[in-house]
This record gives sequence, C-alpha cells and structure tokens, in this order.
Amino acid sequence: MPNFQRGDPMLLRKYPSVLLIYTGGTIGMIQNPETGALETFNFDHLQNHVPELKLFNYHINTYQFNPPIDSSDMEPTLWAKIVKIIHYNYDRYDGFVILHGTDTMSYTASALSFMLENLTKPVILTGSQLPIGMLRTDGKENLITAIEIAAAKHSDGTPIVPEVCIFFDNLLMRGNRTTKINVEHFDAFKSYNYPALANAGIHINYIEDRIRKPDYSIPLKPHYLFDTNVIVLTLFPGIQENLVSQILNVPGLKAVVLKTFGSGNAPQKEWLVKLLKNAVKRGLVIVNISQCLAGAVEMERYETGIHLLEAGIVSGHDSTVESAITKLMFLLGHGMSPQEVRYRMNNPICGEITL
Ligand code: ASP
Repeated sequence: MPNFQRGDPMLLRKYPSVLLIYTGGTIGMIQNPETGALETFNFDHLQNHVPELKLFNYHINTYQFNPPIDSSDMEPTLWAKIVKIIHYNYDRYDGFVILHGTDTMSYTASALSFMLENLTKPVILTGSQLPIGMLRTDGKENLITAIEIAAAKHSDGTPIVPEVCIFFDNLLMRGNRTTKINVEHFDAFKSYNYPALANAGIHINYIEDRIRKPDYSIPLKPHYLFDTNVIVLTLFPGIQENLVSQILNVPGLKAVVLKTFGSGNAPQKEWLVKLLKNAVKRGLVIVNISQCLAGAVEMERYETGIHLLEAGIVSGHDSTVESAITKLMFLLGHGMSPQEVRYRMNNPICGEITL
C-alpha cells in the first residue's frame, strides 16, 4: 500500500498523490479518554485515527503547522506560508487538501484564490464541527471526500476541480463564494450566490459547467503581498456621525467594506453622504456589500442607493464580505492606485462575483 511513504518520486507518479496541509482547528483534535480534554494529535499518525485512508490507493503526505493554530489566529503571513508550501510542492502532487478551523476558513479560501494565479490543480479546504477523534465526527467524511476530490481527474489526465474550494457536509463550493453560517450543525458553510460545484452522495456528482477551466499552458504564479489597512463598517439604524467620521479619518486607512441594507442602501442623512464623498475624494476605496447573505447590490434601484453611487462608492456586486475584504487587501498589497483597485473590484479575478 503506497500511503504515507515519503519522497519516492516514482510512487508519486504512479499513484494519485495528495499533500495534506494541517493548519489546525477542531478537525485535528482527539479526546483524551482519561481527562476528556481535546488535544491536537500528530498528523504523522493520521492513519491510526482514520484507518479508512488505507483503502485509498493514493500517496498521501502530510505537512503540519507547528504549533497548529485556531483559525481565529489566521493572518496574511500564514496565507503566504500555505501558498509557499503549495508552490514548492506544486509539481509533486495532483492536489492539495488544507485542514483548517472553520471560523475563518472562508477568508483563507478567498485569499488563496487570489494568491494562486493560474491555478491548475485542486486546493480543497475542509475541517469539521466535531473533532476527528469523537464518535459522531463529521471530520472523517469531510477529510476522506476532500482527498478524493483533490485527486479526481478527467480521462485526459486534467483535474476535475482546478480551483480553491471548500468541501463541507457533502457540498463542494467555490471557496471565495462561501460564508460560515452555523456554529452548531454540520452544514457550517453556504455559498448563496454561486451554486455548488459538486454534491457528494453515493457518487460525487460534479457539475462541470460550474467549474473553472484554466489554461494549462500558463504556469502557477504565486502572490504573497497584502495591505491590511482596511476595515469592515456595518451600517445600522442610529449609527452616529462622529463614529463614522472617526473611522473614515483613521490615518493610513485605504479601503472600507461598507455593509449596507438590502440591495445596497444607506440612510439618506446628508452628513453620511458628505463623509463618504470626502473619503472617496481623499483616495479611500469604499465597497458596497449588502448585509443580506443572498443576492447582489444594485445601487441604482432606490434613492437611498443612488446617493452612494454618486458619492463614488464601488458596487461589491454579490460578493461575500470575506471575499471583498481579502480582495481589497490583495489589490492594495500589490501597490495599485485607488482608481485601479476600484476598477478591479468591478471585475472578477477568479469567479468571486457575478456580473
Ligand atoms: N475555533 C475553531 C477554529 O476555527 C473552530 C473549528 O475548527 O471549527 O479553529
């Protein structure tokens, strides 16, 4: 059985090969039978905890973060670390599975989708609501199917899913379209504005026309730069002028994701429009994202949206907050002018918005 043997390039070529990157999170935990406490386990011994993996005729290697992190501690330098690992191992594996805490998984999936330009291999993120070492865990199912998807190929040898995705609770979703919506149930993620790329039941049913088709002649181009001078500002009835003013005038601030009402509406208060207009004039990029999870911003639809458009605010279309904020950090990190960032927010990089 070829599982878990390291470094033999012949084996890597003969069998489907997957690199499993364990960053941390609930999935990698087992319950200490004596104390009942949750402890992280050593992924070199993964097969002891998930013996089902032996049934795969795959070559699976593991890389684990040391120490593993709760995904609340995820940050751009760690995204860069993941991208470096993928880039370094790109030719050696058919696909990559990233085990990640659920809390910020959608941010990481969005960031990776922008960082891995010309991606031609599957990068599948997954995790679990219950630790892999617990009786009713969803972790085994998520892990096993994610590995199968990462290794899946068409008859011509090209991968079926050459995208950054999240696989969770039987659904394969485009990563930059996902949001964590549930802390309790196994269906922790939803992709409201783009349908699932595959459903896993008795068979894994891939819906081919929803999956991106990359150009296999262009090499992977990894990106590492982010500018974190950004903020998410949520509107609510009663929001105060002096607080909005303080936020928009924070020294160094370059971009704001403005979470508006409904189809992209905001209070018609004169002070708000004036503050936003002045901020845009000073070079701030302000992106309008709806507080509603499904549907798109349409600023032209109501008077309350039109004045935002007139203030120079950019539509975030049907983007998730996770995707909009990581895309802004990514574009600003590459030194783009406010004008260029605004233009690019209106054009998809890798399927993150519908136009
Ligand atoms: N707090 C954990 C994390 O995001 C939750 C999980 O793994 O699902 O790392």
